[in-house]
Amino acid sequence: MKERYDVAVVGAGPAGLLAAKAIAENGFDVAVLERKTDMKAVTRSCGQSLLPPNEYFFGDLFHYNARDRRFCFPVMGLSFPYTGPVKSLHEWHMFSPCMNSMQFGGGQAAPIALSYDKEILLSCLLEEVQGDHVDLLAGTECSGIQPAPGGVVVQTAAGPILCSYLIAADGTNSRIVQQLGYNNNRRHIANLYAKSYFLQGFTSPHGASILTAVAFLEGKPVYLFLLPRPEGGAWNLLVLTLEGSVDLQTAYEALVQDARYASWFKAARVVHETAAVEYIYSPVIKPFRHNVLIVGDAGGCQELECLGAMISGWRGGCAVAAALKEQQLELPPRAIAGYQDWWLNTYIKQYDYQDYLSIFGLAYTMGTPEVIDYVFGLMGAEPFPPTFNPYTAVGLLGSRLQSCMPKIMAERPDILQQLAGTMLMFPSDVMGQTLNQ
Ligand SMILES: Cc1cc2nc3c(=O)[nH]c(=O)nc-3n(C[C@H](O)[C@H](O)[C@H](O)COP(=O)(O)OP(=O)(O)OC[C@H]3O[C@@H](n4cnc5c(N)ncnc54)[C@H](O)[C@@H]3O)c2cc1C
Repeated sequence: MKERYDVAVVGAGPAGLLAAKAIAENGFDVAVLERKTDMKAVTRSCGQSLLPPNEYFFGDLFHYNARDRRFCFPVMGLSFPYTGPVKSLHEWHMFSPCMNSMQFGGGQAAPIALSYDKEILLSCLLEEVQGDHVDLLAGTECSGIQPAPGGVVVQTAAGPILCSYLIAADGTNSRIVQQLGYNNNRRHIANLYAKSYFLQGFTSPHGASILTAVAFLEGKPVYLFLLPRPEGGAWNLLVLTLEGSVDLQTAYEALVQDARYASWFKAARVVHETAAVEYIYSPVIKPFRHNVLIVGDAGGCQELECLGAMISGWRGGCAVAAALKEQQLELPPRAIAGYQDWWLNTYIKQYDYQDYLSIFGLAYTMGTPEVIDYVFGLMGAEPFPPTFNPYTAVGLLGSRLQSCMPKIMAERPDILQQLAGTMLMFPSDVMGQTLNQ
């Protein structure tokens, strides 16, 4: 470890590694600090699906180039090797508590998500940045930062590191964002608790589709997400809740034996487990302060998804490289402002965090299992267009619900009355009110 770098990147997730790649490719000295000793290990739950490969997302058109085994972002002119397995997923089935369902996609249209192996993705990126002379500091936790003349000092157990710029890519519960004081002006909405179980022997009712379900355990909402792994017949089951009092292991044990799902799990056995907690805040609006640029989940609401994190990491790294070049040439600065404009116009203005929260808040906005069952039954009569993009899905669900309104008014005016209160509110308000009761 050196005492001085042009740039220090905190966090070796998808965002941090692409930021480091951009800076190193421009010839600057960069170190990546990562608290995990095995940088490629995925110790925090993730669905390990890349979405959406069938529409623009964060301004790019991500796809997998199978001929050369590369992940590609044609708008940014970026690609990198990925040597692991990929499985195309075409359908998403969403189940209500009583197993009424809605289907997104189907048939041979473009996939709505790609299942992949995140450890192999991180290994490929680590190899790539090592080839670009990035210093990878595994097992190095950033314990704090301090402004310094012309830069930032990063505190680590092995000593301080001075850098001109710091890139905060330390994920959704970012300590750096907290330390910079951003969270004082962000709204803390809820916490999301997750456990992931890799399963062998799972029997899907719809082949290699994405399955999600809303369940209630002792009156509290718990969500199931099931995604096929890219090879070997394995599945990734995520059990999620916003309720701090729900024990996820107990929830898992209850759900796999529940008559509604028991046939899926009859022969299933767990081969690997991880967990995650996310503090859900409203997003950071201006992601640059005191020579620190925030990229990836660190500045987002809940999560940007891996593609959003990679795109913002790469763009943030390019902006910092350009800012260093501006300094060398004594040009008036504009690169960092350019990144902030991109963040504002591409993320904040196009991907409303309230929409993102609608999927996770569905059980709260609809209120009771009976209402969810009824609404799913009505809305699921016809399949929806293909998507697993949460923002697109919310738009499609909203339009379908509108078109069902006359029927609900005629059949169940009581449900309409029940929904009227919450549907005119922001999901964050509904969730906040219910969870803080
Ligand atoms: C349950 C769950 C399911 C998900 N499913 C999907 C999915 O199916 N598809 C999808 O695209 N996305 C999914 N995501 C989101 C996805 O995991 C993130 O959007 C993505 O990993 C964000 O990348 P990042 O690089 O910004 O942050 P991260 O991947 O979180 O990386 C941050 C890194 O910083 C390190 N770090 C943190 N603090 C410090 C510190 N102080 N010092 C040093 N190192 C530090 C961490 O160890 C970590 O390696 C899911 C997330 C969760 C919780």
